[in-house]
Amino acid sequence: MKITLNNTTKDFLKPYMMPLVGTYNVGVFECPHCGKSILGNFYTHIIGFAYAPVGFVKITECPNCFEKYYSHCGDNDIDMFKYHIENNTNIHFKK
Ligand SMILES: [Zn+2]
Repeated sequence: MKITLNNTTKDFLKPYMMPLVGTYNVGVFECPHCGKSILGNFYTHIIGFAYAPVGFVKITECPNCFEKYYSHCGDNDIDMFKYHIENNTNIHFKK
């Protein structure tokens, strides 16, 4: 999945950019370590974004075992992340 970030999006994401950590997760919504599924509230557990060998990715921390994992990031992912930031429902960026 190739994503092109415009300047507005880049500015918004700046505070949330971080070095790549964790493992690539094909399952996306399911923790590769403990199997915990966060399908229903995935975007409240994103801890940041990074550039990985696979492309631009979102990084998530498992609320159960605290394993960090990442997966491809698309425009929709950024929109959903933004929604939760604006609504103060991402547990890692509560104001
Ligand atoms: Zn886990």
